[in-house]
Amino acid sequence: MSAVWIDPPTSAPRDARIERETHKLEKRLCRLMGQAIADYNMVEEGDRVMCCLSGGKDSYAMLDILLKLQQRAPVSFEVVAVNLDQKQPGFPAHVLPEYLSALGIPFHIENQDTYSIVKDKIPEGKTMCSLCSRLRRGILYRVAGELGATKIALGHHRDDILQTLFLNMFFGGKLKGMPPKLVSDDGRNVVIRPLAYVAEKDLVRWAAHRQFPIIPCTLCGSQENLQRKQVAAMLQDWERKHPGRLENMFSALQNVVPSHLADTAHYDFKGLQPTGVPCTDGDKAFDAEAFEASGLPGLQVVRL
Ligand code: SF4
Repeated sequence: MSAVWIDPPTSAPRDARIERETHKLEKRLCRLMGQAIADYNMVEEGDRVMCCLSGGKDSYAMLDILLKLQQRAPVSFEVVAVNLDQKQPGFPAHVLPEYLSALGIPFHIENQDTYSIVKDKIPEGKTMCSLCSRLRRGILYRVAGELGATKIALGHHRDDILQTLFLNMFFGGKLKGMPPKLVSDDGRNVVIRPLAYVAEKDLVRWAAHRQFPIIPCTLCGSQENLQRKQVAAMLQDWERKHPGRLENMFSALQNVVPSHLADTAHYDFKGLQPTGVPCTDGDKAFDAEAFEASGLPGLQVVRL
């Protein structure tokens, strides 16, 4: 009985604060997704965007925010949600159709037993992910064609992109990330990543707020990708110690200076000659780099 009297004064300001924070989060998600879409011209007039849904928090959030943006976008486009049911044991096949029916948007569930193929081909204990994702990719490209989709939207976020960058550097010897927009390897589809600017922690909060019916991603029983986990932990550790570092690193991907890297295919180092003209952006050669003077809008000082 007493709780009835005690609760309102303490919970009301807290509820108001949570509501304010959630509203700010929603605005940020919409702003960042809208900005990425505009910066890379991801969605154009008349597009039919195939939103790939896995049942994880990221793809739910991508669809959720994209539908909000659809209401006020300067171009008109369609959204069709697609899930590939790979017939993993225990996959709750009813969850996505129920969710999408309730949303009232067009959707397609593609049933393909890639799980059995992968199990059959990959020896016990070996990682199944590369064959599994190759099969999934081929199927989704085909489905995109059948549905008349002009864009394929994937739910990778900023932190996925940075992890991929470091994985490629550490294990592949390449300066290569995961682009916000690309032409698929079959040359027939344009793939977009509308969450490219969004931090994973914001998606975690949004998924909790929206109570998406998350389907666990461990149903296949595959080993977790340990290298990706380690890189993710390393990046989060940096972010904890130096807030803003991940944002700076993503900015770096948008401010590439080929003349200050070492790839002869991207800069004509061999043919380099003195120009006789001073260049303020040129290499000072003998000076230590002054990181504070980056001049990039919003870029923070990097403490090494
Ligand atoms: S975790 Fe499982 S479902 Fe995901 S790519 Fe790997 S094998 Fe496929």
